[in-house]
Amino acid sequence: MTFATLGLIEPLLRSLEKLGYQTPTPVQAQAIPAVLAGRDLMAAAQTGTGKTAGFALPLLQLLAMEGPKVASNSVRALILVPTRELAEQVHEAVRQYAENLPLSTYAVYGGVSINPQMMKLRKGVDVLVATPGRLLDLYRQKALKFNQLQTLILDEADRMLDLGFSEELGNIYRVLPKQRQTLLFSATFSDAIRLLAGQMLNDPLSIEVSPRNVAASTVKQWVVTVDKKRKAELFVHLMRKGKWKQVLVFAKTRNGVDALVEKLQGLGINADGIHGDKPQATRQRALDRFKLSEVQILVATDVAARGLDIEDLPLVVNFDLPIVAEDYIHRIGRTGRAGASGQAISLVCADEVNLLSAIETLTRQTLPRQMEHDFEPEHRVPDTDASGQVVKKPKKPKKPKTSGGGKRNLGKWVESGDASAPEPSIKPVRKVPVFNTGPRKKKP
Ligand code: AMP
Repeated sequence: MTFATLGLIEPLLRSLEKLGYQTPTPVQAQAIPAVLAGRDLMAAAQTGTGKTAGFALPLLQLLAMEGPKVASNSVRALILVPTRELAEQVHEAVRQYAENLPLSTYAVYGGVSINPQMMKLRKGVDVLVATPGRLLDLYRQKALKFNQLQTLILDEADRMLDLGFSEELGNIYRVLPKQRQTLLFSATFSDAIRLLAGQMLNDPLSIEVSPRNVAASTVKQWVVTVDKKRKAELFVHLMRKGKWKQVLVFAKTRNGVDALVEKLQGLGINADGIHGDKPQATRQRALDRFKLSEVQILVATDVAARGLDIEDLPLVVNFDLPIVAEDYIHRIGRTGRAGASGQAISLVCADEVNLLSAIETLTRQTLPRQMEHDFEPEHRVPDTDASGQVVKKPKKPKKPKTSGGGKRNLGKWVESGDASAPEPSIKPVRKVPVFNTGPRKKKP
């Protein structure tokens, strides 16, 4: 099968040739003809499957072939994404695909000044990539009208709900024309996503390119068990032993990112970090330098690294396991993209056994374990069985209690804005009501 046989027009075929895309990926093979035929789509496609081209190519073709010229402050197609980085990335892909077409494209997101965005929108934009919050701000400031909107795309819809954008999505939905084509892409399909799909889509075609909630099979995954306090040391050891060249590392908290970066830099290792507390420009610069191989190790929280596409990234390391098991799939999806092979190593300590178990249940696999010589953990990580359950050892009989004197674990009070707390998007509970009217959550 070729892109030409899918019915794509010559200007798009030229762009694809320039990019070196030869064969459509499975999601592209299914999505392109369906979108060209005007169908709504509900696609279970994880990142790295080529889903962006799957929706962008037919979208651009329809926009180029049909409909009136875009009017001022109007937009003909809207692609909603959860994060600023993803907005930039999707926009860059769309821009490249549209290179030979007379269509305008633009990306808007929060964390940067709104005025240049308002100026740019004056002329109207054919394809606008946006994060939900900034899109609504622009709409409320009358910088945007939706009466020409013919296509809505929700990219990484699960993550938009995870980030607490359900209220914004509801508000956007209410001001869009009812007559439109809607495409929804999500790596995972929770009940909340299905509800969202039920409200927004019209007789959608369902596409599933890899089994639901299963991590990319092109990624070789394993776990190295270690004591928590020795993780950084183990990381450096593995890095030197494996002669790692370019690694994306995930840590749970902003503090964790900063501490690891500081440690690595202290050892003369070329490392940088991205997390939600850093200004957008700094995040983008670190990412760009990593992509150019000017930075060897990029340490990130889930929020900052969502949806990033880095060509030929060979290795992802989970310095900490994610609190939300689905994030594991997203993290390791940074490698092994578009058929390339990749590796994902998780450094797991005893405290994280329940997180490991949740990941194994979700991905329906038991991750192979290794121990590194000289790093064998003092605190053993309990076994997990094939169904992802923690295998409980029979308990030792308790020592009789002595009154007073014993340590009480009072837990840790986590202040909001505490950099040692997980980034705001990382929530242990995923049940987010669609279109709720609750208080706004902090956005990444
Ligand atoms: P995505 O899942 O959309 O983030 O795409 C993952 C990566 O695959 C991106 O770097 C794309 O440029 C690349 N890609 C998408 N489709 C193809 C294709 N048909 N052939 C080769 N590379 C592709």
